[in-house]
Amino acid sequence: MASKKNGPTIAIDGPAGSGKSTISKLLARHFGFKLVDTGAIYRSLALWALRRGLAPQESPELLALAESAKVDFAWDGEINRVFLNKEDVSAEIRTEEISAASSCFAALPMVRGALLARQRSLAEEGSVVLEGRDIGTVVYPDAEFKFFLEASPEVRAERRIKELKAKGLPADNVLADIIARDKRDRERAVAPLKAAEDAIIIDTSHMDITTVLNKMIGHITINMGG
Ligand code: C5P
Repeated sequence: MASKKNGPTIAIDGPAGSGKSTISKLLARHFGFKLVDTGAIYRSLALWALRRGLAPQESPELLALAESAKVDFAWDGEINRVFLNKEDVSAEIRTEEISAASSCFAALPMVRGALLARQRSLAEEGSVVLEGRDIGTVVYPDAEFKFFLEASPEVRAERRIKELKAKGLPADNVLADIIARDKRDRERAVAPLKAAEDAIIIDTSHMDITTVLNKMIGHITINMGG
């Protein structure tokens, strides 16, 4: 561990619906660490690009947005709010349209390159949980703790449908959308979704959140020496 770090970096990767977001949030709160939701960074950029009428293809206009997008996070009680250029976009980036668009924009090497340095510098600070798809493999392979959460597509779709219904939102084509997004994320040329060789892989299909969380907290606590 680099001596200037103020604590460990915890990388949590995995597909949508694996329990990653809920677990990352609970872990960050448990240890009093910062939480960086890197998916929210890609979502915010996709929102901005769509507002500007840009297509998910490489262009000088898209590069300019990716290089100047300022995405910040701030706890508001239990909610980790997301700000794009100081505007609160927490709700707007969670629509199904932005879910699909973000994975199209995220497949572009230009976009990934432009967003990498900021994610890496947040990871280097330490005392932080980063959740995403490529944290343990590309953004910060030196993370002291790496987890990869997964679950079957059917279980992940069921979880998503529950969430959407709870918010009173339509829940059509969820399984098909999850399968399509996974395929894009796993098969893209740059930084595809995959477990790092030294990641601890946890299949959450038949485990509740508390069980998964306790397993992770146990492992981290023992190995942090605390
Ligand atoms: O995690 P979340 O579902 O919010 O991420 C939205 C999309 O952003 C993902 O489908 C993926 O395409 C992209 N993403 C990524 N790399 C990350 C985080 C998210 O490509 N580290």
